[in-house]
Amino acid sequence: MQRVYLKRGRDRPVRNGHPWIFSGAIEVIEGNPDAAGIADVFDSEKRWIARGLFSPGSQIRVRVLSWQMEEIDRAFFFRRLSQALSVREKLREVTNAYRIVNGEGDFLPGLIVDRYGEFLVCQFFTAGMDFLKPLVLDSLSSLVAVKGVFEKSEGRVRDEEGIEPSVGVLSGEQPPETITIEENGFKFAVDVRRGQKTGFFLDQRDNRSFLSTLAREKKILDCFSYSGAFSVYARAGGAKEIVSLDSSRPALELAERNLVLNGFEIGGSELLKGDAFTYVKECDIAFDIIVLDPPSLARKRGDLSAATGGYKFLNLHALRHIRPGGFLLTFSCSQHLSIELFQKVVFGAAIDAGRKVAVLKRLGQPIDHPVSLHHPEGEYLKGLVLRLLD
Ligand code: SAH
Repeated sequence: MQRVYLKRGRDRPVRNGHPWIFSGAIEVIEGNPDAAGIADVFDSEKRWIARGLFSPGSQIRVRVLSWQMEEIDRAFFFRRLSQALSVREKLREVTNAYRIVNGEGDFLPGLIVDRYGEFLVCQFFTAGMDFLKPLVLDSLSSLVAVKGVFEKSEGRVRDEEGIEPSVGVLSGEQPPETITIEENGFKFAVDVRRGQKTGFFLDQRDNRSFLSTLAREKKILDCFSYSGAFSVYARAGGAKEIVSLDSSRPALELAERNLVLNGFEIGGSELLKGDAFTYVKECDIAFDIIVLDPPSLARKRGDLSAATGGYKFLNLHALRHIRPGGFLLTFSCSQHLSIELFQKVVFGAAIDAGRKVAVLKRLGQPIDHPVSLHHPEGEYLKGLVLRLLD
């Protein structure tokens, strides 16, 4: 167990509940600085502040688990996971696919657990949380009965932590090729092993429902459609015609399957493989509604200015292709782009497109993707529902 002493004056954010302690805020580390584990955090006067997970190779050296002096053991995870599960209780009436643990938002930094029916998909993003994997799995298995637990710990955060990707079965059965989940009465085939992220974009659930309320008789472009979840809700809402566009062929194959699974004929839907940037610029079709849900264009803070250019480009061209009185549902899932900046970018796009636009609603994350008030960085998904005047 490490003891981490902060530099003078660097304890305030930690005391205020921010869970991240950057290496630059640390004066001294006692104990093995090269091993992942549990660390106690002290201020420069050697007063105890918090207990967290130590990541030896990361800029974020400690992620706080508790501001109380409590053991980080099986019982601790049992309590945290029980709290997380109780928040999701209501959701279980409408879906069997939801996020059980959303990292910092559930006061378990570095951990994501998604449920897809009888299977769990876990992501251990940090060296510290990776170190506690057995404890987490042990507590999880005593609270949630499933057929299998699959791990999908990969991507940029693990690279930054200096740990290798880890993908495979953690316990029980291997998930089938696709798991059919049910969300708000709709069925979706989810490929947790080869699909993007943990297999499905659970975070857009409420926003898909919202789209279905606008969709009647509309011609819709579902841009960055992935497995067609927005398209299915739009069809259910009575859309007349839908173009689902994505650059990934496997995603579009799933989209086709998902339309069929829900009893919609493929006629009336066009599934288009292509680059969204090129499509929105070059297409000569006018839509009643466009959904723009790109992948994060700013994965690092340094990408922000290039990313705002990308968001502006997409929104500008989308706005040009929407009929008077139509709608744009536009999203950014970049943690580094605030809603204020996003709205400014879209404002710039509206000016350049020569359109007058009203914001009907701001969209965000559903209740299974909570954001700690002390960690606003956790609010990554933002969306605007825009109505075009003329
Ligand atoms: N709207 C989806 C999630 C979109 S995720 C849902 O609700 O499920 C982003 C998607 O954008 C991914 O499916 C990815 O394959 C696709 N994508 C990434 N770059 C693209 C590009 N340049 N053109 C078109 N699609 C792209």
